[in-house]
Amino acid sequence: MIIKDKNKLQEKCSPVSVKEGEEIGVRLLHELRESNNGIGLAANQIGINKRVCVVNVKEPLVLINPKIVEKSKEQFIFPEGCLSFPDSKIKTTRHQDIVVEADNHEGRLSFSANSKDINDAFECVCVQHEIDHLDGITMFDREFRQEPLVRGVNAPKKIGRNEKVTITKGTESKVLKYKKAQSMLGDGWTLSI
Ligand SMILES: [Zn+2]
Repeated sequence: MIIKDKNKLQEKCSPVSVKEGEEIGVRLLHELRESNNGIGLAANQIGINKRVCVVNVKEPLVLINPKIVEKSKEQFIFPEGCLSFPDSKIKTTRHQDIVVEADNHEGRLSFSANSKDINDAFECVCVQHEIDHLDGITMFDREFRQEPLVRGVNAPKKIGRNEKVTITKGTESKVLKYKKAQSMLGDGWTLSI
């Protein structure tokens, strides 16, 4: 049974031993296979508040106590769904490149959406989505907003002409000064902050 109550998904999960994590990983992969076209699942989505998640885009991947240890400044916008919210499809902002460490993997794992293979983008987004679940964060907290983000209460953020911004078009993104970015907006590029 996959939990669909948002309140129950807002708690942080606790660290787990590799042995217990592997058992949970097997259950998660099983649930994922039973699901309709799911590509990732976190333990708290099946009621286990432990830091284990699985991703199955290119191959089944179990992550025990995963941590994002590096992330690119470049972000991109991607359409996302979640097995806990089957009726919602939203656009989120995610890091283009991430490096992950997990207790059941010796080396570091790198994921990048900057690739010709769209599955790389799916995998990169999915890993960020599932690790977020373990911190009680859902995709709605990463939702892309067309307007620049508001800082403070009701204070629209003013962007300086020389301030660096990120703009995205599909899975491409660029970081450049706002004055330069302005001329590209509308040409399929959107401001991601
Ligand atoms: Zn999810």
